[in-house]
Amino acid sequence: MSLTYKKADPLIHGAVKNLTCITRVDKQPHHEEQYYYIFWVSHINKVHISGGLNKNDVIERFKISAKEFDDKLELNEFFCKVCNKESNTAFSSLAKTGDKTCIDCLNK
Ligand SMILES: [Zn+2]
Repeated sequence: MSLTYKKADPLIHGAVKNLTCITRVDKQPHHEEQYYYIFWVSHINKVHISGGLNKNDVIERFKISAKEFDDKLELNEFFCKVCNKESNTAFSSLAKTGDKTCIDCLNK
């Protein structure tokens, strides 16, 4: 099976194999709009972050639907989905695989 990867970020060398999650950028007072970080895995399995994009930019560049955007949007990105504890390992797993599970729960 051949996959067609999307080239979504002109600043990053690599094509998008898997968009793992979208997180909100803390809103600055001078920003009218909400911006997002997009975590994605490239064709060589490297995790990248694209930033400075509003919702429409994300949908357009990453060629996803509004529903996919909502599905990938993660509001509590540091909290393990299993034990609900705050953990950097949950976040790192989310960014790499889209699965927000901490190392303790993964090792159970
Ligand atoms: Zn956990």
